[in-house]
Amino acid sequence: AALAAIDEREGAVQAFLQVSPQLALDAAARIDAARAAGEALPPLAGVPLAIKDNMNLVGTRTTCASNMLANYESVYTATCVQRMLDAGCLPVGKANMDEFAFGSSTESSAFHPTNNPWDVERVPGGSSGGSAAAVAAGEVALSLGSDTGGSIRQPASFCGVVGMKPTYGAVSRYGVVAFGSSLDQVGPFGRTVADVALAMNALVGAGRDPYDGTSQDFAVDFCEHLEDGVAGKRIGIIPAFMEAEGLTAEVRRAVEKAATELEAQGAQLVEVDLPHLDAAIAAYYVIGPAEAFSNLARFDGVRYGFQEEGCSNLADQSSRSRARGFGMEAKRRQMLGAYLLSSGVYDKYYYAAQKARTLITRDYAAAFEKVDAILMPAAPRTAFRHGEISDPTQMYLSDLYTISLNIAGNGGVSVPLGLGEDSGLPVSAQLVVPAFSDRKLLTIA
Ligand code: GLN
Repeated sequence: AALAAIDEREGAVQAFLQVSPQLALDAAARIDAARAAGEALPPLAGVPLAIKDNMNLVGTRTTCASNMLANYESVYTATCVQRMLDAGCLPVGKANMDEFAFGSSTESSAFHPTNNPWDVERVPGGSSGGSAAAVAAGEVALSLGSDTGGSIRQPASFCGVVGMKPTYGAVSRYGVVAFGSSLDQVGPFGRTVADVALAMNALVGAGRDPYDGTSQDFAVDFCEHLEDGVAGKRIGIIPAFMEAEGLTAEVRRAVEKAATELEAQGAQLVEVDLPHLDAAIAAYYVIGPAEAFSNLARFDGVRYGFQEEGCSNLADQSSRSRARGFGMEAKRRQMLGAYLLSSGVYDKYYYAAQKARTLITRDYAAAFEKVDAILMPAAPRTAFRHGEISDPTQMYLSDLYTISLNIAGNGGVSVPLGLGEDSGLPVSAQLVVPAFSDRKLLTIA
């Protein structure tokens, strides 16, 4: 059914960089055989899954939507992908993304853009735009994305699906191509919170992954308290966030309505203040590019991927391979990162950003002494048109509401609120909880 839906819809949506029918059918045959043998089936047996193309899966290329890795064959399978397969998922294909996950629209893919299933003239958000669009279009039931500054929660919002960034360290990143190692986290997309809870059980249930030093043991059943409701829960609202420049009226109204609804169901609304939050985007665009610069240094035209032919020496080969292999945004990030880490400049920006990071993390900790969760928009507006935002710094503002979580490391989820009153496009709220309160996050979601 998933392959038929892909045949029917992929022409319009273009969520995938590769469809892997044989891998999916082989996995399905194994499940059929297990069922025929009377074996107990795993919890996600037969559920079609899309995988962001920065995650390795043996039998597929892992391109990061970059010419640099256009022919790179996965040599092993990422732990997050393996755990979804162990839970019974069928790997239907690799989903489109912004090149190396730099972006908020999936327009920086070197191969093709992805269209928002609600309006194909609009972007699906990004960088995990293909993963969000594939679920929204009904091509798959679940997908995996990665979120360094909002790349799961913002496209989930643009496409009207549930998208979760778990607490940093909850899900292994082994086998996921690194962007910003102190920020990156893998998480699921699904049509409902219950589906996302099932995916979380698969992703974390087997315990910590010894192959990712940041991975932690986090043994909880995410499905167990889903129906507990919000009675007695204290939900934080940040007044400054509801008046932020760039927030559209329809998103603000939808989130306010969600707050009223939570109150009607017994939650208590509490105003909280995160005084250093306005430094989050600036801090992120120092720390993120600095880490990306060092992570992407490995793509040197020798060890992986694209190699320019006919160069006379190694330095020339490396610089020409990188010049041809990377797209504009990937170059911009790496040049920025190289500059920010250079001597003299380092103290001024990198240290300042790390101090801001500490202050923001403390702000969250102080707020969570008063509330169980914080409610805010997931994105300041609904999906924009292809080509509508061409100025990179404008694009960076798409992450206004999502970035501070990657800085502090705690968990968050985008929850669809229906269609916006003005645009008629999906609008979402974001819920945020303290680190490792991800189960409570899903209960409130
Ligand atoms: N949009 C943000 C960026 O461009 C976040 C990307 C992400 O989370 N991978 O860096």
